[in-house]
Amino acid sequence: MAYPDTATQSEAIDWDHSFSDLGNRATASEIRELLKLLDRPGIISFAGGIPDPALFPMDIIAKAHAAVFADPKRATAALQYSVSEGYLPLREQIAQTWRDQGVPCSPDNVLIVNGSQQALDLIGRLFLDAGDRLLAARPTYLGALQAFNGPKPTHGDLAELKSGQTSAKLAYTMPDFANPTGETMGMNERQALLANADAKGVVLVEDAAYVALSFDGPPPPSLLALDAKAKGSIEASRVIHCGTFSKTVVPGLRVGWVVAASPVIRKLVLLKQASDLHASSLAQMVLHDIVEQLGDAHIERLRKVYGARRDAFMAALDEHMPAGVSWTRPKGGMFTWVDLPEGLDGAKLLERALAEENVAFVPGAAFFAKDPVRNSIRLNFSFNEAPIAEEGVARLGRLLKRAI
Ligand code: PMP
Repeated sequence: MAYPDTATQSEAIDWDHSFSDLGNRATASEIRELLKLLDRPGIISFAGGIPDPALFPMDIIAKAHAAVFADPKRATAALQYSVSEGYLPLREQIAQTWRDQGVPCSPDNVLIVNGSQQALDLIGRLFLDAGDRLLAARPTYLGALQAFNGPKPTHGDLAELKSGQTSAKLAYTMPDFANPTGETMGMNERQALLANADAKGVVLVEDAAYVALSFDGPPPPSLLALDAKAKGSIEASRVIHCGTFSKTVVPGLRVGWVVAASPVIRKLVLLKQASDLHASSLAQMVLHDIVEQLGDAHIERLRKVYGARRDAFMAALDEHMPAGVSWTRPKGGMFTWVDLPEGLDGAKLLERALAEENVAFVPGAAFFAKDPVRNSIRLNFSFNEAPIAEEGVARLGRLLKRAI
C-alpha cells in the first residue's frame, strides 16, 4: 500500500515550537540510525542486549495462556482492569523470594511494572527535580540515563559517593554483571556503597536486571538484602531494588518489579496509576504461573548456554584482538566492555565495521551522560551461537589491526 508523503506534509508545522522542553531534548542518536542496518544479510551483530529466542520457554508460555482462558473466572480477571500495585499472587511470589533469602518482605513492598525500564522512569520522577544530582557508574546503562533525563538532573560519577562530600540525591547502581561493562561489585564495595549512602542520605537504586545470569556461581547478596538484613527490615532501607523477567523468561510480556520500603512503593503506585493504570493483567497472571512451572531448571539452562558462549567469546577475543586492546571478563550477564587504544573512536570504528567487515557493536560513548570515553565499545556475547560469534570477533580483530 502507498502511504502519503508524511515527510513533506509534516514540514508545514513547526512542532519544535509546541513540544515541551523534554520533548525537544528527546532526540534519536546517530548510533540508532547506524543500527538500523542490522538486518542486512550476512551481518554479525554484537550490538543488541536481547535474549536468544531459542531459549524462550515457548511451550510453557503457550500452556499458561491456554490455562487462563480455560477458566472463565480467570479469563475475565485477565482481561479486566486491575489494581495499579499489580497482581497480588505475583507480588506475593516475589515477596517470597526475599523471605527465602532471610529478608522479611510483604506484597506491600512490591510493585509490578511494565518492565524494569518503567521502574527507572517512575523512580526518576519520584526523586529527582531539575538540577538534582544523580550519580551513576561511568559507563552506565543508556536506558537509565534516558529514563532519568526527564527531570533534567545534573550528573556525577558513582565514585563521588565513596569519596568526600556529595550533594547527590539518587545513585543508580548495577551491582551484578553490569550493562555495559559486565562487571560485578565485590562484597566490600557493596558494604561501602551502603554505608556511604546512609552517611550522606542518598537513595540507592539497585538495578538487578542480570543478577540471575551468573556463570561462575552466585554474586554476593544484593544491596537490598544486605541492607535489610543489617537493619532488620526493608522498611529501614534506602535501597530501591528493580527486577525483571526480561532476561530470564521473556522481555515481550513486559513485566518487572520494584521492591522497596512501603512508603516508596505507595508513591510509585500513584505515579504508575497516572502513567498507565497498571501492567497487563494477562501478562502478570501468566508470568506467575510460568515462574511456578519453570523452577530452577530453566535458569540453570540459561546459565549453561550463555556461560558457554561467554567462554567461547573470551577465547575468540584472546585469539583475534591485537595488542593495545583490552576487555572485561564478566562472570555473568550479556556484555563485555572493550577499551581501544587512545585516539580510536568507537563510533567511527562502527562506521568502518559496517562498511568493511559487516559486523556491528555499540560505541562506548553512548553509555555516558557527559564527557564520553570514546575509545571504547560494548560487545554482546550472549546472543550469537559460538561459531558465528567467533567469525564476528575475527572480523573485528581484522578491522582493528588495520585501524591501529
Ligand atoms: N536495566 C538494564 C541494565 C537493562 O539492560 C535493561 C534492558 N536492556 C533494563 C533495565 C530494562 O529491561 P526491562 O524493561 O525489559 O525489564
